[in-house]
Amino acid sequence: MKFDKFSCPVCGASLVLEGRTCKCGNGHCFDVARENYVNLNISQKSGEKIGDNKQMIEARRAFLQLGHYQPLADKLADLVGQYCPMGGTILDLGCGYGYYICHIAARHGDSYRYLAADISKEAIKIGGKLDTCIDFCVANSFDLPIPSGSIDVLICVFAPYATDEIYRVLKEDGVAVFVSPAPYHLWELKQAIYGDKAYPKSFSVDFEPLKSVQNLQLDYAFELNSHREIDSLLAMTPYLYTTPKKLLQRLEKIEKMQIRANFDITIVKKLTIRRKIL
Ligand SMILES: [Zn+2]
Repeated sequence: MKFDKFSCPVCGASLVLEGRTCKCGNGHCFDVARENYVNLNISQKSGEKIGDNKQMIEARRAFLQLGHYQPLADKLADLVGQYCPMGGTILDLGCGYGYYICHIAARHGDSYRYLAADISKEAIKIGGKLDTCIDFCVANSFDLPIPSGSIDVLICVFAPYATDEIYRVLKEDGVAVFVSPAPYHLWELKQAIYGDKAYPKSFSVDFEPLKSVQNLQLDYAFELNSHREIDSLLAMTPYLYTTPKKLLQRLEKIEKMQIRANFDITIVKKLTIRRKIL
């Protein structure tokens, strides 16, 4: 826990940790919370709840702890090893409670610095307690408290983002790794809910001005062995909130399911601007 890679959300100056307070040179102070995180989202009003709530995070955590998305966490750790230079800085943007960044930090240890940001204070509170070698902060993805040109590898798994802001925080030649659902992600769950009306959904995303360097798909099957496990997966998806209850009731009779995980992984780069020598 160093908190020396963030910038002041008020004035943009760098923050340094003194005791349990992050301070900038202009006198703005942000206390490190008991759960080892710092709240740098100044647009959030006191008492206002934004981002995932406690119940959503606990449901997600219950599912992720089953290990069904570990192949994705392993793949991300591989990619970080491939793209991040020794001593580089990694940011998990929209990290949730930090499942993926904790996995990456466990694999690579002292080789890198680890930062994790999410708009949900409830999620960050859990993360800060899990791993103190990761600097967790509450932040707005559209206005990051991160200095320009300071991140070597940014990962963004199923989270909202602003491409301009990612471009700004990346170093030249830095890369961003985006994970999104591929068309057949959770296909059997979709079929169980929507029957014949299920259709593969694909997303097209524009990462300009970042340049695509690699596109991968991760495709495997995992098994859910109880109704509780099926429920915890459902809580990870938008279906729980967007699908009529009548359709969701179709899942109640199912105790066992084999499900396809199908992720699109897009790796993009902030290319070095080659200046002409006159
Ligand atoms: Zn300041």
